[in-house]
Amino acid sequence: MGVEIPVEAPRLLSGTSPLVVAMDGPSGTGKSSVSRRLATRLGARYLDTGAMYRVATLRVLRAGVELTDAAAIGAAVKELPLSIGTDPRREVIQLDGEDVSSEIRGDAVTKAVSAVSAVPEVRDLLVALQRELTTAAQRIVVEGRDIGTVVLTDADAKIYLTASAEARAHRRNQQNIAEGRGDDYEAVLADVQRRDTLDSTRKVSPLRPADDAVLVDTSDLNMDEVIDELYRVVAQQISTSRPGGAQ
Ligand code: C5P
Repeated sequence: MGVEIPVEAPRLLSGTSPLVVAMDGPSGTGKSSVSRRLATRLGARYLDTGAMYRVATLRVLRAGVELTDAAAIGAAVKELPLSIGTDPRREVIQLDGEDVSSEIRGDAVTKAVSAVSAVPEVRDLLVALQRELTTAAQRIVVEGRDIGTVVLTDADAKIYLTASAEARAHRRNQQNIAEGRGDDYEAVLADVQRRDTLDSTRKVSPLRPADDAVLVDTSDLNMDEVIDELYRVVAQQISTSRPGGAQ
């Protein structure tokens, strides 16, 4: 906390020059909401890579493939007619032209997504697409699990959001209640812990902070406080990676 905003930073923070921010961390840290808001504040695009893994998972579920059959999962996503928008104010996620933004947040996909995202063919395909979309957007906040460590290792700023498992479960449960999906804190906590373990112990791209990422703990911060802190951290990282604020 208490990071000073360097004098050169405003030019990059408020301009239209290329700027890539990698935002990683486990589920329930408020990562998606804060990434969208940070992107809006920076006048940048926004990419939700978790949504891409969810679309791949929906494809696999619809193909009726066993989740233990990695080869069949790889084959099911070989052709993935996925379309994802990068406007931080408007979510567009389509599978073969169909709006799947709500279905990919449902229980079936949420339960299966860790298994699907552990398959190397799935990751190779989506990582390539994530890099393409980043190059096209130029000024963008990219949110996920392996953005700073694998996808965009040269990002201008890297942030790793953390929060206690309890704080994350509490937030997700409140979100479920608000969206009419019921109130079951214990089950949500168990799911948060299960996904943390799967995501951080998998062989390919395990969830971990990049060596050059700045850790921001959101357990005791509200949304505005998190955004302010992230803005400061990005400013500081830019001034370190581009001394003098130069391009
Ligand atoms: O962020 P979200 O909860 O939507 O991500 C869903 C799942 O997608 C994660 O639990 C993780 O298994 C996978 N994922 C991933 N790599 C990313 C983003 C998400 O493996 N970059």
